[in-house]
Amino acid sequence: MKDTHKHQGLRNQLLTILSEKGISDQKVLAAMGRVPRHLFMDSGFVDFAYQDKAFPIAAGQTISQPYTVAFQSELLRVQKNDKILEIGTGSGYQTAVLLELGAKVYTIERQQELYKKTHLFLPKIGYVPKKMIFGDGYKGLPEQAPFDGILVTAGAPFVPKPLLAQLKIGGSLVIPLGETVQTMTLFSRTGVKDFEKQSLGSFRFVPMLKEKS
Ligand code: SAH
Repeated sequence: MKDTHKHQGLRNQLLTILSEKGISDQKVLAAMGRVPRHLFMDSGFVDFAYQDKAFPIAAGQTISQPYTVAFQSELLRVQKNDKILEIGTGSGYQTAVLLELGAKVYTIERQQELYKKTHLFLPKIGYVPKKMIFGDGYKGLPEQAPFDGILVTAGAPFVPKPLLAQLKIGGSLVIPLGETVQTMTLFSRTGVKDFEKQSLGSFRFVPMLKEKS
């Protein structure tokens, strides 16, 4: 589990690509420049770790494309010590980026195999979320609410009401909405009952599924 100069060089090239594609938040770029993405991928795919592509991980899931991770992280506007809920832990890569941004991270995964693997792996490489939960993200995490931000990393057919309810006023929900293609959507909570919605481009995610498995 090494992180070498060669990996850092490849990461820097990736950051250049992300900037060229429009990512401008320097804190997000710096955070991604610190996370050794190659360690989050099965060994066969290590050579691809610093291409701007999604890749298969265990249990038929994917590690999101770096551009998507950067785009979602940028929308979330994470401040140090923000309490962030992530739905879809997957490989833990996005979790690590949120931790590098200084967030206190709660993350939920519904696939037991992935949950177990990532639960062991993240602390092993120095990334320690506040809590990793095996559960159903449609319910959010009411016992830890409210959150400054909630980030959904799977394609949701609709907005789960509990997630909106678990936002602080001033907080944001970033969620890809749609069945086959998703529209990245940002909900900002402006009052107890008030939300502003922005639609921000098309993406493709694995589906957000109900219940644990
Ligand atoms: N953030 C991850 C992306 C993984 S893909 C990464 O960087 O690797 C999306 C993940 O969401 C998958 O692991 C999938 O199992 C999980 N998922 C899908 N529906 C879910 C739900 N209802 N609750 C929690 N996790 C869910």
